[in-house]
Amino acid sequence: MTGGTQWDQVGGHRDDGEEHPRRRLTVLAGPTAVGKGSVAAEIRRHHPEVWISVSATTRSPRPGEVQGRHYWFVTDEEFDELVATDQLLEWAVVHRGARYGTPRKAVEEALAEGRPALLEIDLQGARQVRTTMPEALFVFLAPPSWEELVRRLVGRGTETPEERERRLETAKAELAAESEFDVTVVNTEVHAASEELVALIKNVPSHS
Ligand code: 5GP
Repeated sequence: MTGGTQWDQVGGHRDDGEEHPRRRLTVLAGPTAVGKGSVAAEIRRHHPEVWISVSATTRSPRPGEVQGRHYWFVTDEEFDELVATDQLLEWAVVHRGARYGTPRKAVEEALAEGRPALLEIDLQGARQVRTTMPEALFVFLAPPSWEELVRRLVGRGTETPEERERRLETAKAELAAESEFDVTVVNTEVHAASEELVALIKNVPSHS
């Protein structure tokens, strides 16, 4: 990236975003299992006008996941190359040692076209974007309660007890990061949460 010029046109926080309501980047983060992926999928289904970044990852595809649609599934070597050539806006090691990152060029192109753009990433990634693109809107997706978050974590049933414990510890630390964000959306129900997020992405005050 060559400095702030392009990002200066992206729009601002909610208080000055009226001027460029559609030229903005929104970053969605939140604790493990809160449902970030489901909310993003709901937006993909109902709001094709919102551009959603497709991350690169070194993890293997799950059944039904499509290359280039859900993720760009890459090898460790390919990911090394993306990092070395500065092609990622941010990247982080998430669960089980897999790396995830946001391809920079696609985001820049979407924003240059004036499309509202969304990144669904983990907290470490959100913090990186905060330092490089502080003008983005940072949205924290929160569970309705701690008990509900635990239920969603356990409900997945895909982790060992040790892994689950580790995830709960991570989730606690992640919940504590809420105050770093501009706004919180509570994910009580996926469709309602996704609509609330789209309103924020498009800079429509949700109280009007
Ligand atoms: P999953 O493997 O279940 O699809 O995603 C695991 C985690 O990786 C989620 O918390 C998701 O938000 C995060 N994630 C997905 N893409 C990215 C990315 O590009 N960057 C970062 N930092 N995290 C990501």
